[in-house]
Amino acid sequence: MDYSNLTKADIVELLSIKDPIKRTALQKAAEETLFEKCGPGIYLRGLVEQSNICRCDCHYCGIRKSNKKSQRYELTEGDLLNVAQQCVDLGFASMVIQAGERHDAKFISFMEQALQRIKKETTSKQLPKGLGITISLGEHTKETYQRWFNAGAHRYLLRVETTNPDLFAKLHPPEQSFKARVQALRDLRDIGYQVGTGVMIGLPGQTVDDLANDILFFKKEDIDMIGMGPFIPHADTPMSDSDALPLQESLEQTLLMIGTTRLVLQDVNIAATTALEAIDPKGRDYALQFGANVMMPLLTPESVCGDYNLYPGKPKVQNKILVKPNVTGRHYAFDEWGDSQHALLKVME
Ligand code: SAH
Repeated sequence: MDYSNLTKADIVELLSIKDPIKRTALQKAAEETLFEKCGPGIYLRGLVEQSNICRCDCHYCGIRKSNKKSQRYELTEGDLLNVAQQCVDLGFASMVIQAGERHDAKFISFMEQALQRIKKETTSKQLPKGLGITISLGEHTKETYQRWFNAGAHRYLLRVETTNPDLFAKLHPPEQSFKARVQALRDLRDIGYQVGTGVMIGLPGQTVDDLANDILFFKKEDIDMIGMGPFIPHADTPMSDSDALPLQESLEQTLLMIGTTRLVLQDVNIAATTALEAIDPKGRDYALQFGANVMMPLLTPESVCGDYNLYPGKPKVQNKILVKPNVTGRHYAFDEWGDSQHALLKVME
């Protein structure tokens, strides 16, 4: 197979690999592409989950608004500043702030001010542009995205979840649409954010053809960063006993997705996501071996991080101490923002 010029049929074939020899060949090719286009560094972002209060009711998600069992919490600006300082101290030059979706004016201003303060207080000789800040706060108006961008965030993560519109409709209540999600990604791009998206893998009814279309969508929309993970059914949601792929199969399918996405998109950042670790303690290491190059160690304070309960098995402890990655030939890229090469090359054009 000519890995440099993959057709949709090739992509489907790669995503359907069962033969261990072909699997190893994909892994090798993905690693080679990663080294050539991005290098061996693993970029670090300290992850803080600011709040699990959410106005959305996504059928798969443990923090959906109808889940009355979810204990709701909100971190203060001071809490976020503490995490920002921890990132600086640990040499994680970037931070991700994620939360449930809220559209009220109070939340939008809260986040704007917090972003401004984090930028201001982390700017130093060591970090002349402060921490790199990624936000993941759901769908908003273009005006809100602009305010947060002006306040200092420069990357945004918003998963499309699936690019099959019928499947999207099954996963979400009618007020959410695939079309609006795609528009949000384009609005973010227009404003100047580096844009990240991704999908869940192993969803009920999802096919390999859907997954191939997801990769082609990332390419067509000129996405800079990818975060994909296995779907893990949550007991307190309408999809608790859905016909999802068994977890081990979802894990394996995710690895094939990561490797294939690396080959097709080449110079983007791809995260080794936490949901992989919920299935297998080595899940994130495997992702790194298939061409992932971003790790997001959890820095949400331990008093609340168990409440950001998107899916079962999510780690409840902070993940501050990073020694060497368990993957040969790779190192953690401390003290670097670690923007995606794809985004940097666009700026230079
Ligand atoms: N409000 C933000 C953050 C949402 S949660 C936003 O809308 O982007 C972040 C991601 O967790 C979601 O995009 C979804 O892909 C993932 N997620 C939620 N429930 C999940 C589950 N049961 N299994 C696996 N991943 C899940």
